[in-house]
Amino acid sequence: MGVSVRTTPAGTNGRIVQAQFEPQFEPQFEPLLSHCPTCGSDRLETRYPSIRVWICCRCRMMFRSPQPTDVDLNRFYSGAFSPENVDKHTTGMEGTTESLAKQYVSHVAARVPLKGRKVMEFGAGLGITSKALRDSGAEVTAVEPFAWEECGKTGITTYRSLEELPESLKFDVILSLEVVEHLRAPLTILRELRGRLLPSGWLYLATPNAASLRARLHRSRWSEFAKYGHMLFYTPATLEIALREAGFDTCARVKKYIRYGNSGIKALAHYALHRAGLEGELRFLAQAK
Ligand SMILES: [Zn+2]
Repeated sequence: MGVSVRTTPAGTNGRIVQAQFEPQFEPQFEPLLSHCPTCGSDRLETRYPSIRVWICCRCRMMFRSPQPTDVDLNRFYSGAFSPENVDKHTTGMEGTTESLAKQYVSHVAARVPLKGRKVMEFGAGLGITSKALRDSGAEVTAVEPFAWEECGKTGITTYRSLEELPESLKFDVILSLEVVEHLRAPLTILRELRGRLLPSGWLYLATPNAASLRARLHRSRWSEFAKYGHMLFYTPATLEIALREAGFDTCARVKKYIRYGNSGIKALAHYALHRAGLEGELRFLAQAK
């Protein structure tokens, strides 16, 4: 199999702990990036050389360089979503529970009533959030390049890429959860997603927060850096820059609290982090007029 699974001890915070995957092959790399993937500046400096993380001197975007090749990434993700790993629930998608999916959907529904709306989930994984969207009355389309077969088993129309979507298909809302950190060229994809929105449509994004307390404390040992497929590491500021560069006029961080099922002190600590804007995940809603 193409991947090995290293799971941190489960149950420590009541949330299903996400499996972390590392390739079990000799990884190959692209050349070093010469320009910032977000603002295009060539003023780049190493941030954490030991883990190949750089930062743009102009927009402060952090990114991996050199990055794995497409061949390696395909091999890696295909392995992660192999039937065997799906059966064993070790695809790396285990962080998305039905409870979390419902909360994401409720954030969007607070802005756009979803009943009867056309909604796309980009990078739908096993379809957990797509199902929650369907339950809320939305007309859901999923795009999923690797787990498309599993996702399709939910009965939701699933395409393998944006190119496969019929050209006439546009959406009131697009959700993309924990996907943008995997992209090599975020602006290309964000612009394509914007092009798929109906006028005044909304994009909802979630991605790890590189300005979280955990990221600040752990620095190069931040767990999100260790994930092989992660190329980009966003702070609230750099995510907003990427969205605006991609043509979104309105961008706002979603300040709603996410409950991970913790109790007692842990829930309290998490709530405090949330209030301080230092929680582990960034969630943004963006609109293009
Ligand atoms: Zn930049």
